[in-house]
Amino acid sequence: MALIRSWVESANAPDGPFPLNNLPCGVFSLADEEPRCGVAIGETILDVSGLEAEGLLALDGGPYLDVPFWNEVMAAGPAVWAALRARLQELLTEGSAARAEVEPHLVPMAGARLHLPFLVSEYTDFYAGKHHAMNVGTMFRGAENALPPNWLHIPIGYNGRASSVVVSGTEVRRPWGQLKGPDDAAPRFAPSARFDIELEMGAVVGLPSEHGRPVTVETADEMIFGYVLLNDWSARDIQAWEYQPLGPFQAKATATTISPWIVMKAALEPFRVSTPERERPLLPYLHEPRPMLYDIALEVGLTPEGGRETVISRTNYAEMYYSAAQQLAHHTTSGCAMTAGDLLGSGTISGPTKDSRGSLLEISWGGKEPFEVDGGTRSFIADNDTLVLRGAAKGDGYTIGFGDCVGKVIPALEDPYAG
Ligand code: MN
Repeated sequence: MALIRSWVESANAPDGPFPLNNLPCGVFSLADEEPRCGVAIGETILDVSGLEAEGLLALDGGPYLDVPFWNEVMAAGPAVWAALRARLQELLTEGSAARAEVEPHLVPMAGARLHLPFLVSEYTDFYAGKHHAMNVGTMFRGAENALPPNWLHIPIGYNGRASSVVVSGTEVRRPWGQLKGPDDAAPRFAPSARFDIELEMGAVVGLPSEHGRPVTVETADEMIFGYVLLNDWSARDIQAWEYQPLGPFQAKATATTISPWIVMKAALEPFRVSTPERERPLLPYLHEPRPMLYDIALEVGLTPEGGRETVISRTNYAEMYYSAAQQLAHHTTSGCAMTAGDLLGSGTISGPTKDSRGSLLEISWGGKEPFEVDGGTRSFIADNDTLVLRGAAKGDGYTIGFGDCVGKVIPALEDPYAG
């Protein structure tokens, strides 16, 4: 697959995140105007709500884009997704006769505010990266018991909170919580001192499934509309005290930040890769009929207040042990219905080496090995640090980007129950 050239010149840069091959879906607003649906192209946003209203983008069963979220397109299914991409590529391709009509609907990205691109109906987070599970398991339970006995058979997950999902750029306030260190005589209530990130990908479900009906991995893959970068902020001190026996609760409920653009599955097709070799055979319902992970290079940057960014991790989505399609299929085995706007966090994506770990907990090995950043060292996030996740799939002369997934951690409230 090569670059598809566009008359939007900035979309043809080989390292730019938003070529005509990408066309990710977002929601934007200008100055005092209402949010509307847009598609990123080069350094601009194409106002697709405006295109549809003017009759330049007529999709079967529409209108879909007269609302400031993509859920209606997502629920419409793969035929509409394909028609949307085909029409936008026709309008934006180099030499398109429609240029004069389309150009007034382009706005500079620099002047736009980006919002959550879809209404998050539910949020589930998984624990499906083996390097991460081994690292955390070793720290929490010792090397002997690092991987729980079910880990190689089940994509382990927990039901998170849709209300905690925020768009890139939203400040994240350090949470208070109940903490008890191993040597403390009693628990106490205090701001988290071990606040952390988790580098993840989020799969966004488009097509719903029926309550009471499990779906196959093949069907699950068809249900996925696209992918975002996802930072599952985690308070490790709260987590360590609360997580047994039902898993994380308040440790993961402060916020989950997603990147502002949903990259449709079609844009990632050339980058499909298989999950790694199975260490134990999976039950048949989890078999992958074809490659369902993606080769997406990922990195994490940390910038202290007033300082320069240090890249603290580089890894790849292909490191996951389970794909989103396997996770989604497993999620329906109980008969649980999935809906348009369901968000599935992949689990932390760590690679096998120290410089490819996807959380500060792992990079600093539980705080025992602080690492260098501009102007100091860190084991966990300090107040006013800004964390950024980036992702890129590299094609032949083009790049598929997601937009940065950024969050600044602001100090805890002085008294959470005041006023
Ligand atoms: Mn997570």
